[in-house]
Amino acid sequence: MELKDTLEKVAKQTVINKIVGYLDKNPEENMDKIFSAIRFLTKDEFALSQIDFVYNYYKNDKSKHDFIQNILKNTDKKCLKKLFTNFFANANWYAGPKRQKYLDKENTGIPFVMLISPSMRCPLHCKGCYASSFSKKDDIPPEEVDRIIGEARELGIYYIIILGGEPFFNDYLLDIYEKYDDMMFTPFTSGLLLTDKIADRLKKCGNVIPMLSVEGFEKDTDDRRGKGTYKKVLKAMDLLNERGILFGVSSAVTRTNINAVVSDEFTDMLIKKGSKMSWYFLFMPVNGDDNDFDMMLTAQQRDLLGKRCREIRDSKQYFTIDFFNDAPYIGGCIAGKYYFHVNSKEDVEPCVFSHFSTVNLKGRHLIDAFRDPFFKKLRSIQPYNKNMLRPCMMIDNTEVIRHVCKETGAKPDDLGAEKMLTDPIFHEKITKSAHEFIPYAEKTWKDVFNEKGNDKLSKG
Ligand code: SF4
Repeated sequence: MELKDTLEKVAKQTVINKIVGYLDKNPEENMDKIFSAIRFLTKDEFALSQIDFVYNYYKNDKSKHDFIQNILKNTDKKCLKKLFTNFFANANWYAGPKRQKYLDKENTGIPFVMLISPSMRCPLHCKGCYASSFSKKDDIPPEEVDRIIGEARELGIYYIIILGGEPFFNDYLLDIYEKYDDMMFTPFTSGLLLTDKIADRLKKCGNVIPMLSVEGFEKDTDDRRGKGTYKKVLKAMDLLNERGILFGVSSAVTRTNINAVVSDEFTDMLIKKGSKMSWYFLFMPVNGDDNDFDMMLTAQQRDLLGKRCREIRDSKQYFTIDFFNDAPYIGGCIAGKYYFHVNSKEDVEPCVFSHFSTVNLKGRHLIDAFRDPFFKKLRSIQPYNKNMLRPCMMIDNTEVIRHVCKETGAKPDDLGAEKMLTDPIFHEKITKSAHEFIPYAEKTWKDVFNEKGNDKLSKG
């Protein structure tokens, strides 16, 4: 390491230690100092403008000010410090230049976050989900999960989302969270297997922010996920909240539960239970099931989801995100660019819904996936549409996935993906749905976004 790099590292570490000190003692009263130290560490102009944006919100918007204060007051100190050191300092300031080097040197983009499904086993039998048909023999062996996470860290990926299946089916993952204590983990869980003992370990780790799956109130949740799941997930929220562990909620939004999940009553209930954010996912027709299209949101509902997501975010002490309707903020589709998914067969996929791959990790290093023409091609043609409210290569720009797979040799990993490439009826239905959304997307793009998205992030 050159002297300049060493000095820079020491200076960064000094500021980071200072911020950790503020978080330890009296964070509520030191927010101005924390923001100014963060500004000092941030070199990138775009990141600076985002920090100023949040700071302005914090200073001038009472609900956001109270929201941040509430997090500072009620979050366990270790969890708070890990959020800062692992997510902000390590994943961004430390690992950002590490990832950038691959891009500059060899045009290989290293994503910011890895999603991994170590196991597809799950105790539930949710409608529209195929996870319950998997057995233990389909799992990625624990030592492989360990290796893949180690390789991700080596490349500069410090944020890992654990999917499945049910992440808490596998006890060894708790050992992984402990082992990689400078990284941040988010398991997406039904909450069913959370116990006092596991919650105690999560608190001890500090580097885990679980997202609990809830599909609306009791009827909607139990209807989709099975009887009794709603009460159990609320109990899981209590276990986390009592310990000051940060957590959020994820909702797969369908034609039938949309009104419930975007209602004030539901959101207020989640806030009361201690959740800090909701992540809405459009139900995607990727399972190869004929009923998928009946569960997908109508064009009008998809637009409504975006509207309510913005309204809730602007008016409540709560953070909401909707992958699709918030796509303009992150430059459209981020598949293979800022995130990717490793499925339980170790295939590397550009996103959790696009089940196509060219690289399987058995016996191969993770970087091979990013060096492969499949991911490079995707990055080179993003965004696929100048209206970033129509970001997707599968449900909006429906020809893109077919062309890219043909050109790069990417193969479908399951029957649903196969159908997407070859079934003319599927093609007809998805294209019709994409066309129906165009007028809504055009209007909101103009009225709300002034026809501008984040161009800088759209090319990564
Ligand atoms: S391909 Fe579609 S679902 Fe996947 S990240 Fe892009 S926009 Fe999202």
